[in-house]
Amino acid sequence: MRVMLLVMVLLLPATAAAQTKVVASFSILGDMVEQVVGDLAEVTTIVGPDADAHVYMPNVEDARAVSDADVIFVNGLGFETWSQTLIESSGTTAQVFVATEGIEPLLVDGEIDPHAWNALPNGVVYVTNIAAAMATVDPDNADTYLAKANAYIERLSALHVNTLQLLSALPPDNRTVVTAHDAFGYLADAYGLTFLAPVGIDTEAEPSAQQLAALIDQIREQGVAALFVENITNPDLVQQIANETGLEIGGRLYSDALSDRGGPATSYLAMFEHNLGTLLVALSATN
Ligand code: ZN
Repeated sequence: MRVMLLVMVLLLPATAAAQTKVVASFSILGDMVEQVVGDLAEVTTIVGPDADAHVYMPNVEDARAVSDADVIFVNGLGFETWSQTLIESSGTTAQVFVATEGIEPLLVDGEIDPHAWNALPNGVVYVTNIAAAMATVDPDNADTYLAKANAYIERLSALHVNTLQLLSALPPDNRTVVTAHDAFGYLADAYGLTFLAPVGIDTEAEPSAQQLAALIDQIREQGVAALFVENITNPDLVQQIANETGLEIGGRLYSDALSDRGGPATSYLAMFEHNLGTLLVALSATN
């Protein structure tokens, strides 16, 4: 009996302490948050693996998670068009943080490109912002959040250096590729590649026949090295471009969401490594 009581007393503080409830808007951001909070907080992600956050429709479960949350992280830059309504209608008292705070956004045809995570130096900004936000919300654990963030940032920075080195070795005429939608502008900008896409920065718009024909002309003129399908968009359009140009599909890139468990991109780091590897294989194979 006495032993039982002792065990209960020892267990009590850990189980009784209410965990901070954190909501992240989409899977890539959810993973970054998990890397920073570890088991100090419970993380719920709204738009899951392989799902398209541009056109997401929140459900009752999402509203409940947002309502119960202490902290909410969103990407911002116009990515989650549904998030403001979801947050406002849930009546939540959670503090809302924008993970891209401080990042200079890229413009595509005058519109803000939301896919900032696709360059690793921006990933470092996200992680820094997440750690700072968690330190304000849960100051008792501030040191742990900062230490975890710093260890994670070291890994992101090492991969960034590696990426610069590997991609800089590609010949100049093997640096233009096509993806389904315009999700890799930040990657292109940071690492010296050119990405063309039949669909813009938002997956909602369908290209007209004329736009598609113009892109196919551009592909022929510019000497595109490879085509890639994405995990969140229908591969038909890219397949059609492959058929019309005779170019091969060089693999699948993870643009806006992680892969499901068992897939090649279950974390932000794994996703970036997978995309880098896929690009390198396809672009090194062309002559
Ligand atoms: Zn996108």
